[in-house]
Amino acid sequence: MAESGGLVSLVGAGPGDPGLLTRRGEALLRRAEVVVYDRLVAPELLGLCSPAAERIYVGKEGFGPSVSQDQITPLLVKLGQEGRRVVRLKGGDPFVFGRGGEEALALREAGVPFEIVPGVTSAIAAPACAGIPVTHRGLAASFMVATGFEDPTKPASDHDWAGLAHGADTLLFLMGVEHLEEIVSKLLEHGRPADEPAALVRRGTTPEQQTLVGTLETIAGLARERRLRPPAILVVGKVASLADQLGWLERRPLHGKRVLVTRAREQASALADRLAEQGARPLEFPSIKIQPLADPGSLDAALAELAGYAWVVFTSANGVRAAFERLERSHRDARAFGAARIAAIGPATAAGLAERGLRADLVSSGATAEAVAADLTPRVEPGQRVLLARADLAQPALAEALTAAGALVDDVVAYQTAPTMDGHDEVRRRLEAGEVDVVTFTSASTVRNLLAGLDGAQSLLARPLIACIGPVTAEAARARGLRVDLVAPTHTIDGLVDALVEALPRK
Ligand code: SAH
Repeated sequence: MAESGGLVSLVGAGPGDPGLLTRRGEALLRRAEVVVYDRLVAPELLGLCSPAAERIYVGKEGFGPSVSQDQITPLLVKLGQEGRRVVRLKGGDPFVFGRGGEEALALREAGVPFEIVPGVTSAIAAPACAGIPVTHRGLAASFMVATGFEDPTKPASDHDWAGLAHGADTLLFLMGVEHLEEIVSKLLEHGRPADEPAALVRRGTTPEQQTLVGTLETIAGLARERRLRPPAILVVGKVASLADQLGWLERRPLHGKRVLVTRAREQASALADRLAEQGARPLEFPSIKIQPLADPGSLDAALAELAGYAWVVFTSANGVRAAFERLERSHRDARAFGAARIAAIGPATAAGLAERGLRADLVSSGATAEAVAADLTPRVEPGQRVLLARADLAQPALAEALTAAGALVDDVVAYQTAPTMDGHDEVRRRLEAGEVDVVTFTSASTVRNLLAGLDGAQSLLARPLIACIGPVTAEAARARGLRVDLVAPTHTIDGLVDALVEALPRK
């Protein structure tokens, strides 16, 4: 590990869906000290970083003022020379029109160690999620990726159009939205047939994905008509016609629906995950920020005698991360656990441990304190010491159950959570702009929290569909003057999602 020497990792963030980051990329993000990122990087990915990591945005907004490459490259060199663990996070693959090559050259010249972590490029992933395979038996035996020269500093004549038009069966143009007419006319001029299928895929792989299918002759007009904005990929070739049959992502039942999820204080966001699986874009309120402890005294004291515990229980991957940050500060590592056995709540927590070389002796699948206690208590003998490393807001039930079973429990807060104000502003702004389709409530407290967050401005909730998990929640909403449009017949998270799938019109 680069403890003293810096390392700059040029990491591909994937095409937009945060699930398409590589495992290597994820591991590097988790332990990065600095992340330097672009505009097309999924915001969720930054949530993988340690709260202590420095985040530097260097993205461009259209052609507006931006941090220029002349500033980014020296910044990476400087951070690397400071001996930091740097992740340079780039949309798609870092070496596909990402200027990753230039950055790597500069790092090499400066003697800063670097590595390249390839990413899933949008050139292939966006068509794939639109149902367009870039190769297909009988239709396309080759594909080619080119820039649509959106960069105004580059002359259009950069391309050898004759060669390019016949370079491959499937042609993929990135950065081409502003130049569709030119691209199309060059291809026609050089002999691609006017009736050849063509497609545009905007924001591929995400809930905002939009696909237009036409022919080389019609595609630019379609884009104009629909006011298609970047980022999008132009696909030219017979395979584009397969989108009609194989398009799948945009057919998910809740595709593109913007759903506000209000959570009770420490509630996990199972609802947001389920909605996303159906294609929705969940907007969580309040958004929760993980913070390091103001006073890590008790955590440090517990960690100092870690090997003295019979069991160490982690309730989340955040707790694992927080514990390791404190261990590293005192120059220790996973050996500090000695013979202590380790319990993890949920697979994500177990994965957090595994990343640090620790295999959990017990992985509890229960989410409630009662379920976890039922897994754990039979394994703990009376008089044994148990460390419970948890979030500040966790319920006391687990510690109580373990104590009742005779364990000597050290109940220690490993990290703090705080609602972020950014979340409030964002939700209000989106409601005001009419950018929320559905508002969900899963308990009376979520109704209270949302209205409190909006300073009681019910009028902001007039437009979206209001969906409640059950009659009690619905009553709470009505009591506060809200109109309830939908009450889930089955009063569970799944029941609520199913009811939304039923109720919302499909595209
Ligand atoms: N390195 C990136 C490409 C950077 S160039 C990659 O490998 O994907 C930026 C261009 O990529 C955009 O102008 C657009 O053409 C394309 N692009 C990036 N993300 C996209 C997405 N989700 N859907 C469609 N096109 C995308």
